[in-house]
Amino acid sequence: KPLVVAIDGPSGSGKSSISREAARRLRAAYLDTGAMYRAVTLYCMEAGIDLEDAAAVEAAARAADIELSTSPDAEFVRVSGRDVTDAIREPIVSSSVSAVATTLGARAELVRRQQQLIKDSGLRIVAEGRDITTVVAPLAEVRILLTASEEARLRRRGVQLGGTQSAAQLKEQVITRDAKDSTVVNFQQAADGVVTIDSSDLDFEETVQAVLDVVYA
Ligand code: C5P
Repeated sequence: KPLVVAIDGPSGSGKSSISREAARRLRAAYLDTGAMYRAVTLYCMEAGIDLEDAAAVEAAARAADIELSTSPDAEFVRVSGRDVTDAIREPIVSSSVSAVATTLGARAELVRRQQQLIKDSGLRIVAEGRDITTVVAPLAEVRILLTASEEARLRRRGVQLGGTQSAAQLKEQVITRDAKDSTVVNFQQAADGVVTIDSSDLDFEETVQAVLDVVYA
């Protein structure tokens, strides 16, 4: 029986770690769609493509050879066969990725690839991002918007980056990026039929349980 779990939310909401763990417990695949936007961004930067040139970014999204693990236990991303798992998390990629995400032609291509990966999973997958509940998998069995207060999101992203970022850098990476992304996708409000989980006052285990509760409801 198909079980597609679609999870959207802003940066720092804990989507990735929560979705990965939920996938493990459900014995499902795991799709980190943000990693694909990051991979295209890195590809463009390395190829010297102007991120403001929509036609060039769209062409890059189509041409890029991206390999993404959908196993929750083996995280890797490869671009042109090269491992970029860590490189796509660099602050320079985080601060540039919205340029790719706001290029509609690039989005269309990545949505298509994501839908194929969901099919390839045999329709047993937890997929997370910004437009999974609304665009990539609007017919998913389970659709969740994972939110958290701004304070909680800044704190979590700071911990995730090992305390290496200043408060201003964190704000840039979380708040400014969400504002840019929000111009093309709605992940601030739950669409019809989408269940909101506010994780501000929940710890990791409680949040995973809240997701599983929605799955088993
Ligand atoms: O989830 P993560 O923070 O890694 O996503 C990186 C970026 O990819 C987001 O800031 C957004 O610009 C883009 N993104 C998107 N749609 C998705 C997933 C990510 O636009 N479904």
